Amino acid sequence: MSKPKVAWYWCASCGGCEESFVDLAEKLLDVFGAVDIVFCPVAMDYKKEDVENMPDKSITVSFINGGVRLEEHLEMVKLLRRKSDIVVAYGACSSWGGIPGLANLYNVKEIIDRKYKEVPTVVNLNNITPREETEVDIDGYRVKLSLPRVLDRLYPLDQVIDVDYYIPGCPPTSEVFWNALNILLSGELPPKGSILGAGSKSLCDTCPLNETKPDKLELTELKRIANTIPKLDECLLAQGYICLGPVTRGGCGALCINANMPCTGCFGPLDGIIDYGGKAASYIASIISYDELEELEKVYDSIPDWVGILYKYYLAASKLGGRIRRKKEVVKDG
Ligand code: SF4
Ligand code: SF4
Repeated sequence: MSKPKVAWYWCASCGGCEESFVDLAEKLLDVFGAVDIVFCPVAMDYKKEDVENMPDKSITVSFINGGVRLEEHLEMVKLLRRKSDIVVAYGACSSWGGIPGLANLYNVKEIIDRKYKEVPTVVNLNNITPREETEVDIDGYRVKLSLPRVLDRLYPLDQVIDVDYYIPGCPPTSEVFWNALNILLSGELPPKGSILGAGSKSLCDTCPLNETKPDKLELTELKRIANTIPKLDECLLAQGYICLGPVTRGGCGALCINANMPCTGCFGPLDGIIDYGGKAASYIASIISYDELEELEKVYDSIPDWVGILYKYYLAASKLGGRIRRKKEVVKDG
């Protein structure tokens, strides 16, 4: 009997999601025994044409990580959708835009100018920036080189193709991926749209500091991890650090909490939450205690980047969608 065929593709990715796959360590041998990997640009030399030549729906599962930022990503995810029975958004970037989705606060020109001209460590005397086409001399030949067009904004995967399942995390832990893979290969598939491999409870429910979290919180100040060191044995939120465990899906093993870092929300919203950042804002606002408006303003002003805190992984999927008006150029057509 032939083995299930699996594809891996990375869009705008930092490579961390691929690391989580490698972190399976010796379990990788079980994966290689259970499936045939038919496409995986980060590790294997397959080309786009190889995928084009596969019959439609012949790939059992495609795992796609990273957000859709380039025209090349858009072409590839549409192709993989056509060739795959199941498409899984792998990781926070693919599911909701992730950290690169914060760039949706700026247009493409602003992003390019910042990266290639304005960053203090950049020396770019001739103001050279990437172009879609350029000509160079190589060994006496005039060669035209091209780069894929940058889209107007970063898109989570389900804004451009139909997605069957989601695996959360930045990156997903190898345990979450392993759980998800076993669900997918079991033949007993959960309802479409399900989050695979993680729990349905909040991080707080599984946090080792849970017993130190008071039932009622009343904060008069917010602290930043950049300026102060938290105590090791007390709920971080109770100490005044913005820990998003109450509104974030658990299943990560409380990795950040165990390293004395507040949860930043990479496992995304709990079931039923329609806008992660909105829910996080509402929760934080509900535990701030103040008498005078000035006190509230002082607490608000103590955090320099509220969008980065509340929407660190979710801005591109938010109802707000960033500050840049969406153009008509990208449409969901599978
Ligand atoms: S989800 Fe996190 S680890 Fe994965 S590509 Fe995005 S930034 Fe990297
Ligand atoms: S708020 Fe954070 S530190 Fe406190 S119990 Fe929840 S996850 Fe743990």
